[in-house]
Amino acid sequence: MAVLEKKSSQHSIELENKYGAHNYHPLPVVLSKGEGVYVWDVEGKKYYDFLSAYSAVNQGHCHPKIVGAMMNQAQTLTLTSRAFYNDKLGEYEKFATEYFGFDKLLPMNTGAEAVETALKICRKWAYEKKGISENDAQIIVCENNFHGRTTTIISFSNDPVARKNFGPYTEGFIKIEYDNLSALETVLEENKNVAGFLVEPIQGEAGVYVPSENYLAKAKALCEKYNVLFMADEVQTGIARTGQLLAVDYENVKPDVLVLGKALSGGAYPVSAVLANDHIMNVIKPGNHGSTFGGNPIAAAVAVAALEVVRDEKLAENAYKMGELFRSELNKYIVNSKIVNLVRGKGLLNAIVINDDEESETAWNICVALKENGLLAKPTHGNIIRFAPPLVMNKEQLLECVDIITKTLSDFE
Ligand SMILES: *Cc1c(COP(=O)(O)O)cnc(C)c1O
Repeated sequence: MAVLEKKSSQHSIELENKYGAHNYHPLPVVLSKGEGVYVWDVEGKKYYDFLSAYSAVNQGHCHPKIVGAMMNQAQTLTLTSRAFYNDKLGEYEKFATEYFGFDKLLPMNTGAEAVETALKICRKWAYEKKGISENDAQIIVCENNFHGRTTTIISFSNDPVARKNFGPYTEGFIKIEYDNLSALETVLEENKNVAGFLVEPIQGEAGVYVPSENYLAKAKALCEKYNVLFMADEVQTGIARTGQLLAVDYENVKPDVLVLGKALSGGAYPVSAVLANDHIMNVIKPGNHGSTFGGNPIAAAVAVAALEVVRDEKLAENAYKMGELFRSELNKYIVNSKIVNLVRGKGLLNAIVINDDEESETAWNICVALKENGLLAKPTHGNIIRFAPPLVMNKEQLLECVDIITKTLSDFE
């Protein structure tokens, strides 16, 4: 039996290797079921999920309320396109704009599409409201950003793996150091054509880099001073992940343009959105932008359910508390550790930095060992391991996970 079961994991991996493009390098585990904070592989082994599909599954796997809303809508009406109205989109837009405190929402599907949407809105606003002359608008971005995989977005990435041989690149972006206010002010002072500043409140993919306190508030103030749109990419940090509804809430910052995705659907369906107030969003007119699936009735029903779960189950509060506990428990271990340098993060978006160089295999090997011990996590950049479980995790489960992590790490000391 054991041999047969083993084969079925191997079989799925072989199929993906043979017939799928090799654009990812997955951990060798084949999942077939999920519920709450757990996932199971095809052999029936149970794991704690410490990636949550890059923070898309904040509400936990297969949340019954979200799945229920999806099934209900799937049997009623799935897609109309925006050529016609549907009876779910308006309800969702009202709900989500009140929920996040903006006048309007533009619905898309993936995070990258929502970022592209924000960039387009920003440029159009620059020409029609700010008075920048056509084709001169510049948008400031940060080094080591991650905003998605489209041609324009990778144009302003500085990750050679994401960029190389995908040129020619889209122009109109100025890159500055993250968490550096004087770099931001210098560009704003010197360049009258700046339309916007696109920033991640915490750089997730780069390795969970938390900026200095008040960085976001001060950057927002600078943007106001120079009449530049502050655009927060909260695709990964938003929707309770960091212990507040939005990561910018820690500094009471209200972005001009808010970009959401991932957990907007609780991982059930691709749903993303851009939110802004009327004086910005109204630059978009019929025909300027769109998506066949954007704003479809399933997405609308799923997003409302997903946001209700976040509110009703107080996931931001829980992420805050569990995050504090997680870091304090790991810090107890780190005091006497040679293999782990530090733990950092906010809420349940955390990472540990392994004491080894970026090219080493140590972080990968630790993740393979964590998998053997029943916990799934993935290295981000070489020596950094991100820990981002679903936010529905309780204290008992979290302490069990800390146990798995510290026991695994101690085998590498
Ligand atoms: C994941 C992510 C994106 C891209 O989202 P996709 O749905 O993968 O296109 C954009 N920005 C941030 C900060 C992300 O973490």
